[in-house]
Formats: sequence, structure tokens, C-alpha cells
Amino acid sequence: MAALTRLFRSTTTTQNAAASFIHRSLTTAAATQSVTPRIDPKGRNVQWVFLGCPGVGKGTYASRLSALLGVPHIATGDLVREELSSSGPLSKQLEEIVNQGKLVSDEIIINLLSKRLEAGEAKGESGFILDGFPRTVRQAEILNEVTDIDLVVNLKLPENVLMEKCLGRRICSQCGKNFNVASINVKGENGNPDISMAPLLPPSNCVSKLITRSDDTEAIVSERLRIYNEKSQPVEDFYRGLGKLMVFDLPGGIPESLPKLLEALNLDENEDKRSATA
Ligand code: AMP
Repeated sequence: MAALTRLFRSTTTTQNAAASFIHRSLTTAAATQSVTPRIDPKGRNVQWVFLGCPGVGKGTYASRLSALLGVPHIATGDLVREELSSSGPLSKQLEEIVNQGKLVSDEIIINLLSKRLEAGEAKGESGFILDGFPRTVRQAEILNEVTDIDLVVNLKLPENVLMEKCLGRRICSQCGKNFNVASINVKGENGNPDISMAPLLPPSNCVSKLITRSDDTEAIVSERLRIYNEKSQPVEDFYRGLGKLMVFDLPGGIPESLPKLLEALNLDENEDKRSATA
């Protein structure tokens, strides 16, 4: 409650309302998910954040871990795209911002996130892996005022790999899964290892339904990377200062990276699968 009171004093009225939604959603205790959620030492489900440049694979790894940990994977980029395709009052404005590679205002994004958390709360969700939020220091401060994030995983890949990954990204318009048609082989620079990633091809039933994100063009990806460095890089420093940042250099594609990431997180995929089905 003290955190909320502090927040009321320090943020704007709109942000207060949104932040109080977030606060209420985040402090709900019980979960009724079919997968056994991982309880962290604080006695509640995990509250993690995934940071990383556009194209690094936040969504891929966050969704795998959310399935293992039994907590929802909440990607603010998905919330923005849902709003965009809903032809609601915000959709025109959002389309313009997203297609310039710019960030949506903190106010809009916090409102979208609050609505998503409320809907989850109504379904009995608790805990989360946030992907794509926070993206500005202000967003990180608001989140920090309303709840205690346990861990921030910062995924890293060289910029030339990020560009190739974004240009190769394809999404199934029916099931929503992400794939990648790029075959990446990049020589490591400055003593860093080479990086190879095999394409992540879709199953035959998705092939005819693949779409490309409108913001995955070379010009827009360059702008998104520029904005990440300007606005989101300081978020890494914010969490480093709180002692919550875990930097993870991805060694390659999912087959090489996922087991190493699980190891770094002290998670055992098989153990979690067993508890998920128990
Ligand atoms: P993403 O799928 O995470 O790359 O997000 C797609 C787009 O949604 C971004 O380029 C932004 O325009 C917008 N967006 C997503 N999350 C945020 C956020 N936390 N703050 C501001 N804009 C966001």
C-alpha cells in the first residue's frame, strides 16, 4: 500500500489510474492455471521481465519459459498489434507510430497493459513474464513503484544478426506463432564467436498463412534499433542498478541457446515438464 501511495504522489492522474490497475492485478494471490506455477522465494508466482533489442527473440524465449513456469507471457507489442487490428479508436494513431518504428506513449502502453492484467486477473492468472515492457526508464520506474520484479533477463545478439532475424521473421496469421526463414551465419567480431542460426521453418499447415510484420522492413528495423539504444538501453542500467539484471549472450538459435538459458536460470526443462503434468 505504501508503494501505491508513493505512486499517487509521483505520477500523473491517468498514469495513477492505470498503475493502480496494474498494482491490483499484480498483487492477486491465487492462480488457477493447469500448469503448476513456479513459486519464487517470496511465496508468489514469478514476476520476470525480458529485455532485448528488436529481433533478439524475447517473445520466443519468454513464451517457452512462461509455459515451463506456468505464468502468462505478456508481450506489449502483441497488445499494440491487437489494438491496431481491432480498428478501435486508437488504431490509426498506433499504426502511424508503429510503422515509423517509434514508441507508443507511456500512457497508452500502460493502459493496454493494465487492461491485459485485469483480464488475466479475472481468469485467475498471477505472476508473469513481461516482454517488451518496460521500454523507457519512466515505464520501469512506474513498474518498480507498483510491484517487485524478481528478475530481468537481458538477451543479447550482435546488431547485424538482429537485422537479419527481423527481415526473416514470419508469423502465422492463424495460430500467431513466429517463424524465421533466414539462415544466419555471421562472423564474430572483436574476438566474439561466430553465430549461426538455422531457419525456424513453419509446419505445412502454417505455410500458406505466413505474414511479415509491417515494421520488419530494413528502414523501420534500423529506426527501432536506434530507438532501443536511445530509450531502452537506459532501462538495462536501471535494473543493473537494482541488482536484478541478468545479461545473456545468445550463442545461436533456439537449439543451442535454450538449454544454456535454462541452465543460467537454474531451470531444468525436464523437471519443470514433470511438475507441469503432475
Ligand atoms: P515489439 O513487438 O515489442 O517489437 O513492439 C512493436 C511496437 O509496439 C514497438 O515498435 C512500439 O511501437 C510498440 N510498443 C511495444 N511495447 C512498447 C512499450 N513498452 N512502450 C512503447 N511502445 C511499445
